Amino acid sequence: MTIADQQAIAAEEHFDAIVVGAGFAGMYMLHRLRAMGLTARVYERGDGVGGTWYWNRYPGARCDLESMEYSYSFDQDLEQEWNWAEKYGTQPELLKYANHVADRFDLRRDIVFETRVDSAHQDKTSGLWTVKTDAGTVATATHLILATGNLSTPQLPKIDGVGAFQGRTFHTGQWPHEGVDFSGRRVGVIGTGSSAVQAIPKIAAQAAHLTVFQRTANFSIPARHGPLAAEDREAQKARYGEIREAAYQTPFGIAKYGSPTKSAFDVSDAERQEIYEQAWALGGQAIMFTFTDLLLDAKANETAAEFVRERIRETVNDPEVAELLCPKDHPIGTKRLCLDSFYYETYNRDNVSLINVKQTPITRIDANAVVIDSQVYEIDDLVLATGFDAMTGAARDIDIRNEKGTSLADSWVAGPQTYLGLMVAEFPNMYLITGPQSPGVKSQMILSIEHHVDMIADLIEKMRTDGSRRVVPANPAQEDWVVENNNVANMTLYPAAASWYMGANIPGKPRVFMPYVAGVKQYRATCAEIVADNWRGFEFSP
Ligand code: NAP
Repeated sequence: MTIADQQAIAAEEHFDAIVVGAGFAGMYMLHRLRAMGLTARVYERGDGVGGTWYWNRYPGARCDLESMEYSYSFDQDLEQEWNWAEKYGTQPELLKYANHVADRFDLRRDIVFETRVDSAHQDKTSGLWTVKTDAGTVATATHLILATGNLSTPQLPKIDGVGAFQGRTFHTGQWPHEGVDFSGRRVGVIGTGSSAVQAIPKIAAQAAHLTVFQRTANFSIPARHGPLAAEDREAQKARYGEIREAAYQTPFGIAKYGSPTKSAFDVSDAERQEIYEQAWALGGQAIMFTFTDLLLDAKANETAAEFVRERIRETVNDPEVAELLCPKDHPIGTKRLCLDSFYYETYNRDNVSLINVKQTPITRIDANAVVIDSQVYEIDDLVLATGFDAMTGAARDIDIRNEKGTSLADSWVAGPQTYLGLMVAEFPNMYLITGPQSPGVKSQMILSIEHHVDMIADLIEKMRTDGSRRVVPANPAQEDWVVENNNVANMTLYPAAASWYMGANIPGKPRVFMPYVAGVKQYRATCAEIVADNWRGFEFSP
């Protein structure tokens, strides 16, 4: 829809549903709503579809799950006609795919681009949501669906002077569309999470000098990228239905990695080493799928962690740099595992230096330098690979108020509370796609998106059939779900890491473990059982 079209939109249009965000979640939600014969409007702040893959255009950006799985399953023709070129889709390829889907299902005509939703207030009499945008448009809807993404609110570091830097500053999550040429430049990268791990080798290959400022070393595993051979692709396509269903039967929603059956201590040291060697050679997430207890038992975890540290020490020539790159403050897998292509090797280059900012944080950023105590690191370009206000940031950024005038931000002040990660008590007719307390970020994201979109569509369909106009989770059901979520997390090692799953990367954010980690299989079974029990925990009214 063009700007002129948008301006022509009459104030106070009404839709059955308003969807916020046109990433993979918003696009499929729109498709489902339309197929149900409902009117829908999607607002998207970017000028195109694709969400994460629209914004994160930094060099080296690619998916860390194989694209044959990280793709929509809802349409078999789409599955068959799209040909992934590489094992792990690159950002441009994933964005092309998103655009293909938008064209193929004619989605754009209901999406208003370059428009941010500022507020969504629910009327206490009608129960309708009134949605206002930064373009000055106002629309109402019966259902408000937040497809705002889990990693879509870039986090700028709270460092003195960060805004005063006179060179070029880039955040990996807001990368310029035209790309960035670092040739001949002195570049500083702050952060060593997944984004940095992908970008650093690419920037180092171009820049005159690259200085990496690392606060916390992360575990990274070689992705072992490569082209996707046509015969492998076709063989997978031939059994796509089976692969998709198999994925739902796993904890992380990934068919490629079967569930392990043995503890790390059920085998001898030599056998364990051999199993880790094979997983390392395979690359990707394989190592985390070798034993049942890697995320449950600290000693078992340490065997895998130390195996990876040994690989780092083998790869990096300078023993001091290698030791700095060895993560020692969290169990492997409790922060999102990074996948890389020649990340550790990059530190063997003459034009790359690694600066530890753990004990002595960055003091300030000057017009042309990063300053740590009396040390001045002059740079031309600053790359902030400093992450996101994850899982709750985007929803909290919108002024959402329920029929009593309570804001979502206030009701989540001590951490998010949801029922199934799908709805929030006291916020009727408001839905989250892969919200906190769902497996979303701990699973193959598109699979979890499809599951949630289908549940929301089924919920709305049930309301139509019953003649209900209002649905909200009951408070006790939500409380029980939050307790269940915390109990499951506390049986694992996840809370041991200061991760974005815990909100620990955002100063002042409550430390609450947000994803549901009993696994996709368990979650899907629980949801099916709740639906079969007439949507237990949901309250419907006319
Ligand atoms: P991230 O994992 O949150 O990493 C942010 C980095 O910035 C951390 O190393 C953090 O250090 C550092 N940092 C933040 N503030 C700092 C400061 N003031 N001083 C020094 N260092 C600072 O963010 P991300 O790398 O963008 O990744 C976020 C998530 O996005 C990933 O976990 C993954 O789920 C997803 N992602 C996926 C892919 C993929 O599919 N291939 C690629 C990129 C991202 P601390 O650890 O000490 O806080």
